[in-house]
Amino acid sequence: MAKARRGRKQERRPRDPDAGGGIREHWRSDGGAKTAYGSSDEANRSALQARLEHGVDLDPYVCGICGSWHLGNRRD
Ligand SMILES: [Zn+2]
Repeated sequence: MAKARRGRKQERRPRDPDAGGGIREHWRSDGGAKTAYGSSDEANRSALQARLEHGVDLDPYVCGICGSWHLGNRRD
């Protein structure tokens, strides 16, 4: 009765980091998770350090996915 059907399941992955748009706040463009900071103070300190060491301008923001702070590029 219960015949195993060999239907081809098309498994699409809707969770493509580049496709969603919204979830990019938690992921880097290379696919890894961004560095998480426990407080705005910590994030701000790292942003300042990044500016001094690398000359990059980063904005701290609260991530809607993990609830921690991340640093993001303003041009993003
Ligand atoms: Zn996050």
